[in-house]
Amino acid sequence: MNKAIALVWIRNDLRLADNPALTEALAEHQVIPVFIYDNDEEGSASRFWLHHSLSALVDTYAEHKIQLVIRKGPAAEALLELSQESKASAIFWNKRYEPWARKQEERVKTLLEKKRILCFDFDASLLRSPTSILNKEGTPYKVFTPFWRAFLSASKLRYPLPEPNLDNGTRTAFQSVTISNLGLLPRIDWTAGIESNWQPGEYGAKKQLRHFLEEGLAAYPQGRDRPDQSFVSRLSPHLHFGEISPFTVWHAVKQQAEITAGAQAGSECFLRELIWREFAHYLLYHFPQTVDKPLRPEFSHFPWSGNQEHLRAWQKGKTGYPIVDAGMAELWATGWMHNRVRMIVASFLVKDLLLPWQEGAKWFFDTLVDADLANNTFGWQWSAGCGADAAPYFRIFNPILQSQKFDPAGAYIRTWIPQLAALPNKWIHSPWLAPPLELAAAGVELGKNYPAPLVDHKLARQKALAAYQSIRAKSPVCY
Ligand SMILES: Cc1cc2nc3c(=O)[nH]c(=O)nc-3n(C[C@H](O)[C@H](O)[C@H](O)COP(=O)(O)OP(=O)(O)OC[C@H]3O[C@@H](n4cnc5c(N)ncnc54)[C@H](O)[C@@H]3O)c2cc1C
Repeated sequence: MNKAIALVWIRNDLRLADNPALTEALAEHQVIPVFIYDNDEEGSASRFWLHHSLSALVDTYAEHKIQLVIRKGPAAEALLELSQESKASAIFWNKRYEPWARKQEERVKTLLEKKRILCFDFDASLLRSPTSILNKEGTPYKVFTPFWRAFLSASKLRYPLPEPNLDNGTRTAFQSVTISNLGLLPRIDWTAGIESNWQPGEYGAKKQLRHFLEEGLAAYPQGRDRPDQSFVSRLSPHLHFGEISPFTVWHAVKQQAEITAGAQAGSECFLRELIWREFAHYLLYHFPQTVDKPLRPEFSHFPWSGNQEHLRAWQKGKTGYPIVDAGMAELWATGWMHNRVRMIVASFLVKDLLLPWQEGAKWFFDTLVDADLANNTFGWQWSAGCGADAAPYFRIFNPILQSQKFDPAGAYIRTWIPQLAALPNKWIHSPWLAPPLELAAAGVELGKNYPAPLVDHKLARQKALAAYQSIRAKSPVCY
C-alpha cells in the first residue's frame, strides 16, 4: 500500500543525521524534502555558505535518487502550493528560534492547518528548548552561571539519531528552482579565501568535528584564547546551518573525553561554550527586542559617536592597532574570526572609537560565515556592556596588552598583516612606538604601508569612561 505523502521543510538543518523532522516523517510517509528561500536578511558570507551547503545536500539526496525541491518564498504560500501539487497530507520541520523565524512558522501553521494539512515541529537546533529553563520566579535567567547550573541539572540530553533510511523518499519530480537562480553568490568574486578555508555541508561538518576531537579538544582550555594557534573547533558555521546537530557534538565530545587521557578538562570547557550558545539563543527568544536594542535600557541614551571614517577604517582593518587590523583582515579573507579577537575588535569599536555596537553587529552579520542572529547579538551586547551578564562597560580592553598576552610572538598579526611581518616581537603589537631605524629595517612606513593609530588608546579610554558616566548620572541602575 502506498504511504501518505509528507513534506519535510528544511531550514537551518541541512543534514540527514540527527534530524528528528526527517526521521519522524520517514517513519510513516513518503517524503518530499523541500527548501524555501525566504529570508533575504542573511549576510553576504552566509549566502555564499548557504549556496554551497544546499548544493551538498542536493547531491546527498540525489545519491538516494530523491529530489530536494527548492522554491522561493514566502514560505507559507510556497509550502501550501507544493502540498497541493503533491497531495501531501502533512508537513514536518525542525524549529528555529529567531523572532522572524517564529513568525514565519506561525504563518505556515495557520495557512496549512486551515487546509487540513497536519503540521509537526521538533526541537533540534538547541540542546534544550528556550522555554524549558526558567528561574524560581518562573522568569528567564539573565545571568549565565545560574542558567548553566539549571541546564546541567535538567534531564539527561538525548542521544543523536542515526542517518535515516531514505527508501521512503518520493521519486516523483516537482518543479524546482536551481540553486544558482537563488542568487546567493556575490556578483564580485571575493570569496576565494572562504572557499579555500571551509567545506560547507554535512560531510565537511563531520570532518571538522573529527579533526577537533583529535587535535584540539585536549588543549582547548589553554589553547582556546590563542588566535595564533588552532585549538578551537571552527564548528560555528556548521552549527549555525545545522549541518551537524548540537547533540552529535555534545555526545562526541563526551565520548572522546572518556577515551583520551587529559581531555576531561577540555571537554568540560568546550561543553560550557556550547551552553553559551544555548544561553545566547535563550536570551534572543525571551528578549527578541535585543536584536537592535540594548537589553539594559539605560544604554539607549549612550552618547555614541557617528564618525563614519572611523567606522570604515575599522571595517577595512586600518585602525593602526595590529591585533584589531589582523582580526578584521582574517574576517574579510576567511569569513571567520577567532573568538578572542572578536572580543578585542568589538571592544575597540564600542570603547576606543565610541561607535554603536549595532554597527559592528551589522558588519559582522554581513561578513561572517557563522553569522548567527542570537550569538552575534549576544556577543555585541556583551562587548558593549549593555546585555545580559555582559562585560561591564568600564572594563576596557587594552588592545596592546591583549595582543601581547594572546599573540605573544605576533604570529597571528604576521599572518594577516604581512607588511608588519619583519618587525621584531617587541614592536609588533604597537609599531608606532618603534624607533624609526627599526621600522625602516622592517620595511614599515607608518601612514604609507601601514596606518598610524587612529586614536590614542589612553585618551580614548578616558573619553569612553566619561561617556559612560554621563548615562550613569542619568540612570543610577548602571553598574
Ligand atoms: C562580538 C562577537 C560576535 C560574535 N558573533 C557570532 C556569530 O555571529 N555567530 C557565532 O556562531 N558566534 C559568534 N560569536 C561567538 C564566538 O566568537 C564564536 O562562536 C566562535 O568564535 C566560533 O568559533 P569556534 O566554532 O571555533 O568556537 P569554539 O570555541 O570551538 O566553540 C564551540 C561552539 O560553541 C559556541 N560558542 C563558542 N563561544 C560562544 C559565545 N561566546 N557565544 C555563543 N556561542 C559560542 C559556538 O557555536 C561554537 O562553534 C561572537 C562573539 C563576539 C564576541
